[in-house]
Amino acid sequence: MNCGPAPTVAAALATARTMGVDRLDAQWLLARVLNRPRSWLLAHDEAPLDADLWRQFQGHLVRRAGGEPLAYLHGEKEFHGLTLSVTPAVLVPRPDTELLVDWALELLDGALAEVKSPQVADLGTGSGAIALAVKNCCPQATVMATDNSQSALAVAEANAVRLGLDVGFVTGSWWAALPVRRFHLVLSNPPYIAAGDPHLPALRHEPASALTPGGDGLGALQEIVHGAPHHLLPGGWLLLEHGFEQAEAVQRLLRSEGFAGVETRHDLGGQPRCSGGHR
Ligand code: GLN
Repeated sequence: MNCGPAPTVAAALATARTMGVDRLDAQWLLARVLNRPRSWLLAHDEAPLDADLWRQFQGHLVRRAGGEPLAYLHGEKEFHGLTLSVTPAVLVPRPDTELLVDWALELLDGALAEVKSPQVADLGTGSGAIALAVKNCCPQATVMATDNSQSALAVAEANAVRLGLDVGFVTGSWWAALPVRRFHLVLSNPPYIAAGDPHLPALRHEPASALTPGGDGLGALQEIVHGAPHHLLPGGWLLLEHGFEQAEAVQRLLRSEGFAGVETRHDLGGQPRCSGGHR
């Protein structure tokens, strides 16, 4: 792309428009490159851009126009009140997943409130979002987080250190990471998109292993539910995020493993998004 003479703020944003980048996204990206608040941009239309920063901004525009999530360009994402570092090694935390965290906190404050030091696990933690949000709001919990991806765990661990949250991290696939541990509460947002799902191509910048287990999308959910009875303490809870068309299947899985009090909760868009139950 033409990196020619550095333009003004207004011209740089106009370039973004011609590349099809959303106006607000372009403003966030430019503000970040200039290390200024977005409001500064609006008041400094005619300010010239330094050539280096213009080149940096153009690089961001090319990536954003190619569908890369804004969170990867920023290198961070807000989740449940925490600012998490994210890289392409991890799924970008979704606001819908805050539902799972809120449900977990409700249990820790309700059905599990009598437990002095609740043992909590987050399977397939990615950026660490769920585990860190739970630990942040419930410091008395012992929280373990797993992931099969070393590079994802490195991101999660760095987040824990930066946020000063004491969470234990273990590498491994689902329960294999925690062979002998038992928990009061297990949480997971596993890959659940079916192999041929038309939404997958738009998510190509995120790790495929965090999005789809292949097949009908139920494989990871099945594995987690099947192993749960051996890893939950009496009365322990399992809460799972799943696809909006998977609530019935997940409820069936939970009941067939003997879970009680099985229910489904809805996300911000009103879709059935999380299901869970207890031993
Ligand atoms: N909810 C995510 C999406 O639809 C997928 C998350 C997942 O597969 N666990 O983009």
